[in-house]
Amino acid sequence: MEGFWNRIREDAMGGTGIGPEDALAVLSLPQAALWRLLDVTESVRRRFKGDGVRLCSIVNAKSGLCSEDCSFCSQSRRSKADIRKYPLIEVEEMVRAAREAKQRGAREFSIVSSGLAMRDRGELERVGNAVERIRDEVGIETCVSLGTLRSDDVAYLLSRGLRSVHHNLETSRSFFPSMCSTHDYEEDVRAVRAAKAAGAWVCCGGIFGIGETAADRVELSMTLRELCVDSIPVNFLNPVPGTPVEGIDRLTPFACLTIIAMLRLCHPGREIIVCGGREVNLRDLQGLIFAAGATGTMAGNYLTTAGRPAEDDVRMIRDLGLSLLPV
Ligand code: SF4
Repeated sequence: MEGFWNRIREDAMGGTGIGPEDALAVLSLPQAALWRLLDVTESVRRRFKGDGVRLCSIVNAKSGLCSEDCSFCSQSRRSKADIRKYPLIEVEEMVRAAREAKQRGAREFSIVSSGLAMRDRGELERVGNAVERIRDEVGIETCVSLGTLRSDDVAYLLSRGLRSVHHNLETSRSFFPSMCSTHDYEEDVRAVRAAKAAGAWVCCGGIFGIGETAADRVELSMTLRELCVDSIPVNFLNPVPGTPVEGIDRLTPFACLTIIAMLRLCHPGREIIVCGGREVNLRDLQGLIFAAGATGTMAGNYLTTAGRPAEDDVRMIRDLGLSLLPV
């Protein structure tokens, strides 16, 4: 066992990251190993990323009515969840939401829309107008999550002042068909490659606790490594009534921490941002996400579920002796 601890520390501290077998072993550790694991992941995070925390915030700019059938998603076509559904909001509302995000302490603001891909030129231009105004009037980094964008659409948004493109793979290639039948995993992979090719900072991760195995979690991590994504958002399922996964058991706080730790050890130099489902899955252990390797989190509300007040997150970060990265 000593060999295992030495190897994962060296592989992560050296910058290459641990391999799939050790990643699986991290996910199989007993709870008694938590503090030893956090000792390693905390060292790796501090070495590569320091003590600055990146706070992100989003607006659900177009909600529901999606053509896709992702099992976990309350906006999918097979969801019966009681959520608000509306078309793309106006530029003014996006700018107002960005101002509020900055006031909450967010460094980055993402405009998120439901749907497989935003293809309508009018909608893209509306988002482009909002991105430009947010850059000029609010002064906060912008991100979009608009589905499987093409490279030229990303290039257009970058020309309006965009920094990042978010597009999750959600889960492993192997598990994906059990979660979504309306499009192919490769479409999502192509979108990630297209955003990278266009020159965007690419934020790409997934959701955990939707019925996938530990091997699926490692497989996703290795795919993210192949794609050289810049930032890895980590969501934990908050089962919404009316979705196919509504009865699924929540992850334990320990399972969440080992997932973050595994990702930190596989991707020593990348951002790892803990997003949806943090409060309900980690409960009182939320503050440990940073020791497990997270470099950021999402403040404010999620797409269709509420987050806790942003002041609580800012206080947690300061109480831990960490600092908010300035805009
Ligand atoms: S995750 Fe995205 S593509 Fe899948 S159903 Fe939800 S909004 Fe649609």
